[in-house]
Amino acid sequence: MKNLLVMKFGGTSMGSAERMKVAARITAEEQKKRPVVVVVSAMSKITDLLLDTMRQAEAGNRAAVDASLAALRQRHEETCRELLPAEKQAAVEARIGELIGEFERIVNGMAMLGERPPRSVDEAVVTGEWLSATLMAEYIAGCGTPAEAVNAREVVVTDAMFGNASPLMDPTTVKARARLLPLLERGTLPVVTGFNGATADGRPTTLGRGGSDFSASILAAALDAAELWIWTDVDGIMSADPRLVPDAQVLPQITYAEAAELAYNGAKVLHPRTLAPLVEKKIPVWSKNSFAPEKPGTRIAPSVSDGPSGTRAVASMGKVALVSLEPGGPELNGVQVMARALDAVARANVEVLLLSSSSYRQNFCFLVREEELERTLAALEAALALEFAHHYLDPVKVDRDVGLLAAVGEGMQGKAGLAGRIFTAISRVQVNVIAIAQGSSELTIAVVVRRDGLEKAVRAVHAECGLGNRPPVPVFPFSPKKGQ
Ligand code: ADP
Ligand code: ASP
Ligand code: MG
Repeated sequence: MKNLLVMKFGGTSMGSAERMKVAARITAEEQKKRPVVVVVSAMSKITDLLLDTMRQAEAGNRAAVDASLAALRQRHEETCRELLPAEKQAAVEARIGELIGEFERIVNGMAMLGERPPRSVDEAVVTGEWLSATLMAEYIAGCGTPAEAVNAREVVVTDAMFGNASPLMDPTTVKARARLLPLLERGTLPVVTGFNGATADGRPTTLGRGGSDFSASILAAALDAAELWIWTDVDGIMSADPRLVPDAQVLPQITYAEAAELAYNGAKVLHPRTLAPLVEKKIPVWSKNSFAPEKPGTRIAPSVSDGPSGTRAVASMGKVALVSLEPGGPELNGVQVMARALDAVARANVEVLLLSSSSYRQNFCFLVREEELERTLAALEAALALEFAHHYLDPVKVDRDVGLLAAVGEGMQGKAGLAGRIFTAISRVQVNVIAIAQGSSELTIAVVVRRDGLEKAVRAVHAECGLGNRPPVPVFPFSPKKGQ
């Protein structure tokens, strides 16, 4: 469809009746100009609440489950009453009751089994998105634009990696077109749930936390959209997380590669896999603030015209762990151990965030997300059981007291001295560097530091690279006198 715009509203942009009204207004304005597909997240904090309810059910904590269900009901019923006219409320509240009832049925099953199968978690957790899509579609329809809530399990086809599924683009394209184009052709606005999909044989899946950005880009690619707009709670992609760095600046434009590196290294503003489906069709993305829709936001495109050279932004990630492996003696070939270890963690669907090795002792370490650590260790133990048993390999060492910092920018390539400046800035604020990696593309310099120094290090690197509005701290605390 020509000139199609896909717009995604995140959790805070769906966070209350008031926020939904703003999102609906933005949508209606755009819809006057061109066809629009909307993708929505669950209301803010609802996904956490749903996941926690399931954990409590597994642990047999009935009182906590009941309290969470009550909170879930209350938040959505309240929003419904504030959002919709009196005559519509009863029917929509009944629908909310049905959806929460479905969720409760799955949760009760978990409580009975004392287990939380990933497949059931995926089926249940998308209740959040289904509730917000239902409310949003009802409100938009009530304002005069025909709208229909669509569950993405009808349109996004994925593999069966529950909790972190990947889209299968060919069948998704067929299904998305078949389901959404007829709606668009008759002027009905589809309000699609973000975050979820289903396998080809219909088993519900999710795309990983924060996955609604990814849902939106999958649909933008499948429908050949002209643009994708991602509405969030900050003015765009910034030179650092504004929660950590008060003088972080909005970047007017940024390349796909830079945005992907930032997201991959912890910039929560974008799901790391968002840009992949768009590369082939070169669909531009705008990151915009639904709290300040008049601001231009950040344009993310395959390449940008006038980007400043050097570092563009700094990203960081706190909840990570460094896993180290070291041969106990010369019996083993270190490269083979590395290959088998990485193969094992990849099979366990663990993402290796950074890898660093030393050639002499043949030891190596890699960084994983804290929530993937248990899976990582189990995979290593299974794959290298004999080597551990015979002490050919020392016991795995794990350091949880670490954080990842990454300086990103296409213009960093070939900039002599930049890495040195980054390390100097980190050491100047007395933070220890534990491991370093720089990909051959020179797009990112990634550094593992002590966890309690992470935020200090981010601010120091941000200032050193001249990204904020404060001058970098001088290397020498005094200016040498003339002639010295
Ligand atoms: P949404 O619910 O809209 O998907 P998220 O909470 O997932 O929003 O992402 C937005 C948040 O990302 C911001 O509030 C901000 O704190 C954080 N963030 C981290 N790094 C950056 C960055 N480089 N630029 C902008 N925001 C960032
Ligand atoms: N609601 C999901 C989450 O919180 C997906 C998203 O918001 O993008 O992870
Ligand atoms: Mg998000």
